[in-house]
Amino acid sequence: MDIEDAYVELGVQRTASEQEVKAAWRKLVSQWHPDRHPGPMAVARMQRINLAYQLIRDQDPAEDAPAPPPQASPRPPPQAEPPAAPPAGPPPPPGPPPRAVRRSVKLTLEEAALGCTRLLSGFLSSTCEPCDGRGVLRHTHDCSNCNGTGTARAPGWVGLFSLPGECTACNGSGKTRVPCAACQGTGKAASLPWRLTVRIPAGARQGDVLHADGSQARAGHGAVTLDMTIDLLPHPLFKLDDDGLLHIKVPIDGFGWMAQRAVDIPTLDGLRTLRLVREQLHYRLPAAGYPSRKPGLRGDLAVEVEPIFPARLSSEQQRLLDQLMAASAGSDETAPDPRLAQWKKDLQAWQRKHQQQQRKR
Ligand SMILES: [Zn+2]
Ligand SMILES: [Zn+2]
Repeated sequence: MDIEDAYVELGVQRTASEQEVKAAWRKLVSQWHPDRHPGPMAVARMQRINLAYQLIRDQDPAEDAPAPPPQASPRPPPQAEPPAAPPAGPPPPPGPPPRAVRRSVKLTLEEAALGCTRLLSGFLSSTCEPCDGRGVLRHTHDCSNCNGTGTARAPGWVGLFSLPGECTACNGSGKTRVPCAACQGTGKAASLPWRLTVRIPAGARQGDVLHADGSQARAGHGAVTLDMTIDLLPHPLFKLDDDGLLHIKVPIDGFGWMAQRAVDIPTLDGLRTLRLVREQLHYRLPAAGYPSRKPGLRGDLAVEVEPIFPARLSSEQQRLLDQLMAASAGSDETAPDPRLAQWKKDLQAWQRKHQQQQRKR
């Protein structure tokens, strides 16, 4: 996406003020939020909207602080502004253009959620320039074995009766290629190392492509621009939905669930307390989930509890449970649950019908 596309994506003029751009971005974000538009299409649209906003914001020279390490961002390399004509002095010699490198970056869910720094490195191999990668030079010279004639006498045992045949050194062409001295015939130039420390912002998701500009290379090093595809490692506890909702499934003590006790629930940044509600299996811990696409906001953590009851009870447990059953059957304090009352009615109605049909037979 270039800067023109970014303005088109947000639906604003190039002359729009910072406030106008921000307002347009806000409106689109709320319109395309995955809560309202589930599915990968809306996610892709949200990515484009955010990318466009970031692109427009980043071209603001006021925010263009030269700060290593570069912040990886979901955007193409910024277009170089036409330089203001220097008052005097020759322009610095341009270095070789940075090479575009693609990398897949594996992150744990915690690293991706909270943001992290990665040192990436590699080697830039390139083709040898003098020979254009062929390993031999373009010009030829006469074969030294046959002096350019293409024929040579095969060595005979007495030398007298040997007949002239095709020169084996040049296959009869009379010419030999000159091996490239620059690459010693390999066709490859010496590979240049590159290193780039990148800051991956909080909230990167599976498949996100982040761009990092490392066009300033140290002497003897290659300059690169990086496109990093985020690959999230599976997490033992959490699962991240495509729409950015973080899930966790927690087995809990069934009696504790009935007693509505509090349990500790792990989140990406530590334990949180959840008060259990009898009969309720699904909960939301607000702002304990994954960073939202909206900067500075966090989604909820969706908690599913799985009450576990003991397969075998101690005699004490059995006695207490029997007591509990007896107490709830004979209690005047609590009216029977309407669902149970309804079920009792339905069952009786069905039984009457069933008996009538049996009598008819
Ligand atoms: Zn020859
Ligand atoms: Zn060469």
